[in-house]
Amino acid sequence: MSPAAAEVRSAIRTVLASWAGLVAEERHLEPPARDIPALARFLCQHVKWLARHPAAGELVDEIRELTRNARSIAYPNSVRRVTLGCCPDCEGELVALIRPRDDFLPSEIVCTTSPSHTWPVTCWTTLARQIRGSQAQGSKEKVLEP
Ligand SMILES: [Zn+2]
Repeated sequence: MSPAAAEVRSAIRTVLASWAGLVAEERHLEPPARDIPALARFLCQHVKWLARHPAAGELVDEIRELTRNARSIAYPNSVRRVTLGCCPDCEGELVALIRPRDDFLPSEIVCTTSPSHTWPVTCWTTLARQIRGSQAQGSKEKVLEP
């Protein structure tokens, strides 16, 4: 395990243990074992109670930050995949592959069915018009159906 991964893992354990400690203390319960699965299970069991707690916002912020850190360490050059809808040229689905600026490949929109249906960043406006056009056509066809 990389030092960064070990560090974020330790931070996760510390934060979960702290919140589990709060639950255990305020609800007069036995705190769980200090390992991540046990802590996570314990917190999930008390999630409704936690959602009503005055510090719920703080808990959410801390978990969100930990998740973001852990994800960026686990997938350092991650490509974000955003599903966009139906391909205007076939039955496939369009997915935008948004790559970091320093990636050697450019961001692009690809079709899940046909590898020839790809659109580079420079053509996204044209593609958006095409999608809008095919959606309008689709809705007209639906109107005509019995
Ligand atoms: Zn396609």
